[in-house]
Amino acid sequence: MMPPAAFLMLANVAEAESASSYRAMQCAHVSSIRDVRPRTPSGCEECLATGDHWVHLRLCMTCGHVGCCDDSKNRHARKHAGADSHPIVRSFEPGERWVYCFIDDEVVGEI
Ligand SMILES: [Zn+2]
Ligand SMILES: [Zn+2]
Ligand SMILES: [Zn+2]
Repeated sequence: MMPPAAFLMLANVAEAESASSYRAMQCAHVSSIRDVRPRTPSGCEECLATGDHWVHLRLCMTCGHVGCCDDSKNRHARKHAGADSHPIVRSFEPGERWVYCFIDDEVVGEI
């Protein structure tokens, strides 16, 4: 069982405010993070629908959309982030915990 993502991120924000040397979490979009469940745990939602292939998967932290990464030809995670104004994703790869903001174009923390 993973703890709720939103709780962990809020804890990180509090840490950032108390420690001036803490560089991460300066992204203003972390407020869009929700306690999401993957809508299509088996793969990229759009690629599954069209029978396409992907390289890596990203999980939208606002709505639970699963999309393919920028190394995949369709880049559905980035398209979803722009189209639905859901800028924050986490890696949906096993063992990867990083959280990325498409607007700031950087990793903004870990879950
Ligand atoms: Zn951001
Ligand atoms: Zn895709
Ligand atoms: Zn989304």
